[in-house]
Amino acid sequence: MANQSEEHQFLARESPEDLQVARTEGSFLFDDKGKQYVDFMMGWCVGNFGWGNAVLLEAAAQFEGPDYVYPGYSYAPWVELASLLVSISPGSLKKCFRATGGSEAVDLALQAAMLHTGRSKFVSVEGSYHGNTIGGLSVGSSESREDCKNLLSRCYKVKPPLNAKSLARVEALLKGRDVAAFIMEPISINLGVLIPEPEFMTGLAALCRQYGTLLIMDEVATGFGRTGTLFASEQFAIEPDIICVAKAITGGLGGMGAMIATTPVAKSMEDKGHFYSTYGWHPRSVAVAIAALGYIARNNQRLLKDVAATSDYCRQRLMEMRFKKPASCRIAGLAIGVDFGDESHAAKVQAKCRREGLLVANEGESLLLLPALNIDQATAAQGLDILERCV
Ligand code: PMP
Repeated sequence: MANQSEEHQFLARESPEDLQVARTEGSFLFDDKGKQYVDFMMGWCVGNFGWGNAVLLEAAAQFEGPDYVYPGYSYAPWVELASLLVSISPGSLKKCFRATGGSEAVDLALQAAMLHTGRSKFVSVEGSYHGNTIGGLSVGSSESREDCKNLLSRCYKVKPPLNAKSLARVEALLKGRDVAAFIMEPISINLGVLIPEPEFMTGLAALCRQYGTLLIMDEVATGFGRTGTLFASEQFAIEPDIICVAKAITGGLGGMGAMIATTPVAKSMEDKGHFYSTYGWHPRSVAVAIAALGYIARNNQRLLKDVAATSDYCRQRLMEMRFKKPASCRIAGLAIGVDFGDESHAAKVQAKCRREGLLVANEGESLLLLPALNIDQATAAQGLDILERCV
């Protein structure tokens, strides 16, 4: 039998190479030995406004609300947050459903699409990730969970690149197949910052309308300024029927995600009754999310201007870098993918960066740079200097 510490290691999946996190501050993370890392990952699009953001910290510290609110009761801050989310959502998304995080928000979107259309099939982008529930796994591409997908009926896949040529494939899938929804990240961070051609998005939206298929934009990672606009969907001439948000909404406090839908879609959901999860929209997280949205509203212009300026700076630096292995860069705001076309090389560079004090994400053949939206140029330069030494 495993001794207690082995058992603990198994449960926590810790290995000696794991980063033992001690604290975070701004764009830095410190391990248990005091080593400082420039954080170009920010928890994968969670810490968009910097770790320890004073506005968010203060909202959490000053919170004096209830310990908990039962989902069947009413709570004024829930309504306030839902209204704020609706007010900044793209297109005609008018109704907000509470979720515990990104995976549940996606699951609710799939449920809403099924209830609204009376259909049960989906189409998504090959290689995508939409969360770790059975629903998210079914529309995603996690190979290790192939066997867990058969509770949902078929999900068809469209292979990137997403350009005008791919529309024929989309039409073949939507035509006569009773597809409830097409789900995608408008700019796919999980696919190494895959930016669809505008013609693809416009054509996709038109095909969805033609075949009665809903369009779900998973903005869990792209939401709240990451790609240079508040939501990545805004960069295309589309009107999604549903968006899913989570991650950066609280800058790190959990229990928070949302599915935001058009009124008719929401009505189909409400008409059938809806059961909220016990820990969705915890009062403390709600207070922080309201503060985060206030922070965005007050700083929106500056925040997005900063994103554009830092994005340009990163682009310039990446163009000047001498790569050992040729790489192509895909940049949307501060979602930056550096594609080496080689998984093991990407993993090696990521490990080297970490040894040198820079945290970047690794997704397949790409590195992902996802710095805080308000990172100062000196810290951005510090991170890019390390990257330059490692590529
Ligand atoms: N959708 C996307 C696009 C994501 O990136 C993620 C998380 N990486 C999820 C859904 C799932 O969100 P969560 O981890 O909050 O459940």
